[in-house]
Amino acid sequence: GFKCGIVGLPNVGKSTLFNALTESAAAQAANYPFCTIEPNVGDVPVPDPRLAKLSEIAGSAQTIPTRLTFVDIAGLVRGASKGEGLGNQFLAHIREVDAIAYVLRCFEDSDVVHVDGKVDPLADAETIETELMLADLESLERRVPALEKKIRGQDKEAKETLALLERALVVLREGRPARYAAVDHEDRKAFHSLGLLTSKPVLYVCNVDEASAGSGNALSDAVLARATKEDVGCVVISAKIESELVELDAEERQSYLADLGLNEPGLNRLIQEGYKLLDLVTYFTVGPKEARAWTIERGTRAPQAAGVIHTDFEKGFIRAETIAYNDYVGLGGEAGARDAGKLRLEGKEYVVKDGDVLHFRFAN
Ligand code: GDP
Repeated sequence: GFKCGIVGLPNVGKSTLFNALTESAAAQAANYPFCTIEPNVGDVPVPDPRLAKLSEIAGSAQTIPTRLTFVDIAGLVRGASKGEGLGNQFLAHIREVDAIAYVLRCFEDSDVVHVDGKVDPLADAETIETELMLADLESLERRVPALEKKIRGQDKEAKETLALLERALVVLREGRPARYAAVDHEDRKAFHSLGLLTSKPVLYVCNVDEASAGSGNALSDAVLARATKEDVGCVVISAKIESELVELDAEERQSYLADLGLNEPGLNRLIQEGYKLLDLVTYFTVGPKEARAWTIERGTRAPQAAGVIHTDFEKGFIRAETIAYNDYVGLGGEAGARDAGKLRLEGKEYVVKDGDVLHFRFAN
């Protein structure tokens, strides 16, 4: 599955947030096995209002969301790139995730010590990014001599790799993350396989005080401004409130949210933003038994999309009966869509679109 890492300096509320995420997932797991692989890994359902709508129309007995994995990556301190603190282990964990959420402290509390002595989320974001950039610089520079040697031996692939690597080096040496490197669309995959920490998409998570959960505060406003300028995602959330919300039953939660002037838990937005960061596509399978959301990478063709459900579906793929989400909802479900000629028969080359409602036909 796809993974979003949670990083941040000590005492910013990472664990509080992560625990709220996993407890909320566990509480919703009544009809789906909740699994944690390790104490710092949580597999959480992705809230998607479209799924509830489809389930309602089809009268599905069960509704099964797709999932996103969050990894609580502890150990970021100044000097992590040089092996300080949990150093190397920390960097290894970040390498394994697809996107990174930076938790930034935007709450004042004299009882909670700030490692740098001052609450300054922008400085914290820079500290995190600097450590990751230093680690990238070092790993790239280490790889150059071996690649140059291969190029002297006429290795064409090494030449292409070095060219990409140099694109990253240029921006890193300017003190900017590798995600700003100029890379053509067709080279994106190869670029990502360089395994750079700062080429992964980033989300700023502003952990604000309880009173600011709805509208944010001056600190989170500053982060938001920077996020907008940098074109990265940003979520304002109060970890403390989230940790209280997960303890409540549905009714109490609703009234607490209303008191706070919120429509839904901040965790929902966090999960949705994390999912959005990965540029994934969600498709649905809908029937009387269950309505279910599935995740694929953008650009995935129908047989491979079917393979996410079961390898047999991919091997024996014949066609995908396809209804766009808006048609399904607008025409009152499968029968209505069929009658209106909106049920398409798509073959092996079809690239699945976000929101497609699919029914796979396959031979054993
Ligand atoms: P971590 O080191 O980043 O994992 O931080 P923790 O989640 O362990 O939180 C550090 C301390 O900050 C704990 O005492 C939390 O109770 C406190 N804390 C976390 N979030 C908030 C918050 O939103 N407001 C306040 N006042 N304290 C918080």
